[in-house]
Amino acid sequence: MLAMQYRGPYRVRATQKAEPEIEHPNDAIVRVTRACICGSDLHLYHGLVPDTRIGHTFGHEFVGVVEEVGPSVQSLKKGDQVLVPFNIFCGSCFFCQRELYSNCHNVNPEATAVGGIYGYSHTTGGYDGGQAEFVRVPLADIGPMKIPASLSMDDAVLLTDVCPTGYQAAEMGDIAEGDTVVVFGAGPIGLMAAKCAWLMGAGRVIVVDHLEYRLEFARKFAQCETVNFLEVDDMAIHIKKMTDWLGADVCIDAVGAEAVGNMLQQVTGRYMKLQAGSATVLWWAINAARKGGNVSIVGVYGPTGNTVPIGNALNKGLTLRMNQAAVKRHLPRLIEHIEAGRLKPSEIITHRLPLEEVADAYHIFSSKLDNCVKTVLIPPGARQYERQLAMH
Ligand code: NAD
Ligand code: ZN
Repeated sequence: MLAMQYRGPYRVRATQKAEPEIEHPNDAIVRVTRACICGSDLHLYHGLVPDTRIGHTFGHEFVGVVEEVGPSVQSLKKGDQVLVPFNIFCGSCFFCQRELYSNCHNVNPEATAVGGIYGYSHTTGGYDGGQAEFVRVPLADIGPMKIPASLSMDDAVLLTDVCPTGYQAAEMGDIAEGDTVVVFGAGPIGLMAAKCAWLMGAGRVIVVDHLEYRLEFARKFAQCETVNFLEVDDMAIHIKKMTDWLGADVCIDAVGAEAVGNMLQQVTGRYMKLQAGSATVLWWAINAARKGGNVSIVGVYGPTGNTVPIGNALNKGLTLRMNQAAVKRHLPRLIEHIEAGRLKPSEIITHRLPLEEVADAYHIFSSKLDNCVKTVLIPPGARQYERQLAMH
């Protein structure tokens, strides 16, 4: 089959690879019809995630059609159209019972913090991802969801990560009616967090980035105010000025380890790897929040020490919450919002490329070219396959 394969930092290729097979009775093989590239994939692409092996196929945001199921699979059959949450989880361990699906204890032998993630290096289990014609879906009775007829495939693929992650970012901010919410990052996750902040009762939403095209996108998509951090001397003081000198009730980090805006952080965090990523947005979020406020972090960081102003967080009495999103927990509510017309996740898709052009697709998204916000890859044959399905 054709699959995206990692060749080393900044080098990915679409080349032939053996098709996945059923390895366990509860596996399914899914024929992928759409797979997105995520900001998280950029951390892999930039060579920042340890144990990313040559030949690994990325892709944790995908939808498709069940091609084959293992003998114990009961909830899916060949031909079902499914969306597959980016987390791989068992559904029954201590953590899954508490709906902490991203922290499942049974699916990732390499780590004690994060569970399994498709296409996200051997630090999250080494599972091949969905930027391919076919993907093996373990625990097929637990993770995947049949796509309801009310959902378009484009909306469905954004329910595998972006939309639930933005939603959880807002949820972890514990937004109260009328709160001022500052979202750092106007990528897909920040855009969705801004949109969801309104759904949770925010009175004011401010999105921060330095890419003018993304800030413009944010104003239209999420009807928010925006700040270009390049035009501001001190981010925390600027937010305080905008909030009667109190600070924001809620700050959301939707940027993570690759934040720009502070050269020292960038050099020590990104280039010299002295810490697990640049802590720029953590500084801004902690210092721009009001005393007693909430900081919600969904931007991804490496596991080892970061230079974080934890003393300020303590002295201000902040509540810090963070996690990889527990996608499955949010799906019923998000589908209600989509069906009611309050949310249209697919509005953020700006690029569609055939899987064959995966190298270009990564380059465009990584370098923020061509006003790119979100890219969908279409494997060969997927369009034809969807047309056949539509005819039946
Ligand atoms: P993206 O790369 O498209 O967007 C990141 C945005 O942050 C860019 O627009 C960039 O210009 C901006 N930025 C850089 N430095 C900044 C700064 N100092 N202040 C404000 N903005 C800044 O990525 P994305 O797909 O939106 O993902 C964002 C983050 O969320 C990534 O770290 C990704 O790994 C993470 N993520 C987490 C989860 C989860 O479950 N927790 C899920 C998906 C993605
Ligand atoms: Zn993702």
